[in-house]
Amino acid sequence: MCPEKSNLQAAILNYLHSRHRIIRWREWLSGHRYRLAPLSDRSRPLYVIAYRVGDKGRAAEAARAIEQDWIEVPTRCREVYDEILFRAPQLVVIQLHRKNVCGCLGHRHVAVRETPFAMPHDAFGGEHAGEMDIAYQQVLTWQALPLSDTALDAKFLQGSRLEDFHAKQFRLRLLSIILHETNHLVFPNEPETSIRERSLNFYRDALAAYTENAIATLSFTLDRSFSRLK
Ligand SMILES: [Zn+2]
Repeated sequence: MCPEKSNLQAAILNYLHSRHRIIRWREWLSGHRYRLAPLSDRSRPLYVIAYRVGDKGRAAEAARAIEQDWIEVPTRCREVYDEILFRAPQLVVIQLHRKNVCGCLGHRHVAVRETPFAMPHDAFGGEHAGEMDIAYQQVLTWQALPLSDTALDAKFLQGSRLEDFHAKQFRLRLLSIILHETNHLVFPNEPETSIRERSLNFYRDALAAYTENAIATLSFTLDRSFSRLK
């Protein structure tokens, strides 16, 4: 991790901690929590996941998608987002919800609602932050690419790694939605169709690359155990 990025994270944690004790207590008691998640090969944006304490596990999955799954995706998939990420706000808040009343997977927010980040602050470079929300239960049941998703499911059934596959699939969906909403934040006038095409292509390619890799490793492991039996 580059030093600037860890400085930024430390500055934000300091800032959150420096708020009045009563504000922090009230926040803690109401079950509101924050978690920072950087993209390891980029200087921006730094994502701040805002979640309810009961959703800690889901917040950890979202953080893992940003911190690990992103860097494991083929370079060509990441390069598509070069300009978008380069122009993104220094800080982007992700409000993680269970459900949205409207049934959408996520939205970008025109104004930041998360109080500590609503106004520009020195801790995040004196810039305006960006904000989005994501409804994770809707992401779990989202039929992103019905045909290819089912075809991949069938491959993993044979390999008994279906659980790992589903966990990865969920995180890649989260990641593609985070990138989709970041794209909206950076280019508010770009049409939905082109933003959607970019994020669905990202999801499709990333999942296909993971599957290819996992199956190659699986058959390698099988081959080895077979050769040991000889
Ligand atoms: Zn959209």
